[in-house]
Amino acid sequence: MTITLSGIAKTFGDFTAVHPLDLTVPEGSFFALLGASGCGKTTTLRMIAGLEEPTSGSILLGEDDITRLPPHKRPVNTVFQNYALFPHLDVTENIAFGLRRRGVKSVSKQVAEMLDLVQLGDMARRKPRQLSGGQQQRVALARALINRPQVLLLDEPLGALDLKLRRQMQLELKRIQTEVGITFVHVTHDQEEAMTMADSVAVMYGGRVEQLGPPAELYENPRSTFVANFLGTSNLIEAEVLSPGTAGPEQLRVQVVGADATLRLPAARCAVDGVGAGTKVLVGVRPEKISLAHTDDADSVPRGVPEDHNRLTGRITDASYLGVSWQYVVESPAGTQLTVYEQNVSRDSRLTPGAHVVLHWQPAHTFALDAAQD
Ligand code: ATP
Repeated sequence: MTITLSGIAKTFGDFTAVHPLDLTVPEGSFFALLGASGCGKTTTLRMIAGLEEPTSGSILLGEDDITRLPPHKRPVNTVFQNYALFPHLDVTENIAFGLRRRGVKSVSKQVAEMLDLVQLGDMARRKPRQLSGGQQQRVALARALINRPQVLLLDEPLGALDLKLRRQMQLELKRIQTEVGITFVHVTHDQEEAMTMADSVAVMYGGRVEQLGPPAELYENPRSTFVANFLGTSNLIEAEVLSPGTAGPEQLRVQVVGADATLRLPAARCAVDGVGAGTKVLVGVRPEKISLAHTDDADSVPRGVPEDHNRLTGRITDASYLGVSWQYVVESPAGTQLTVYEQNVSRDSRLTPGAHVVLHWQPAHTFALDAAQD
């Protein structure tokens, strides 16, 4: 079911936890509310669950207005971080609990289906204390899904698991969501988790949605410094826009502050309204989009650097082996430290601290943000 939040807001006394918010969660999607502690994501989820009454606004489920409906009357279930399983009931009885309470007599077929879905068939008779954290989490999930909710809300459900198990459960959850096909709304502060699982992510900050979109769009085309930095390393460089139009209608050219370099980017990737000559921006590029070319002469362009690439010179200050890639820290004349990830670096071509390099990347991978933002 599609969830539509219109102007939904929540204040506690004179503190506004969620500012009026408009949000549509498409039917059957895996939607993540992502943000740091205190940004209002749990409060938003609790309003959808009916556990928190909105101060203003409305919540629709499909066509139905559920804003004032009590939690148990909503076709919505919630899975919390602390699972809340019944310790004296075994896995089967925990999963069957909701159906039995509603007076459903024959539950064994549905329980078996759920055990299958969460791959716990061989644990059916165990008590929660005989299960690992990840297995307990699966029971909690099965217990919520057996009620056939139209929406499943997940509040940091993987928060108590260690990193490896969490990564494994992220893929599990995604598989289960695809299999059951209902709308999942997942709250997390872990950007990798949101990016791995969700079709769509709303990044929240200070009770507001900063940006909403598919993970790749948020990562590659962030519209604020908060989103750029929250979703990874953004390599922000201070720059000033040169006369718009000089690089064609679709392109912007900017002068890097403190360096003899100009960079180009698609105009659509500039998140500043009404940009003109002299507008101060922060230009960003993700670390894995940058290539490095060694140079002995800081003023010449090494062979193999494409003419149409953006270029900056710099000096390596750190080189670290990360397993999947090498991470270089490069000090540029603009005074910024830029991070570069390079894969497939052979032992011989590895760059060492002190080396002079040209950093280069495609203009299409460049974005620009408002430098005047707080
Ligand atoms: P976390 O990841 O830490 O749970 P969150 O982003 O989910 O954070 P919320 O739990 O939604 O944040 O809280 C948002 C803000 O509202 C916080 O500053 C919190 O202190 C405040 N808040 C939440 N519930 C209440 C309440 N019942 N009374 C007063 N303030 C509250």
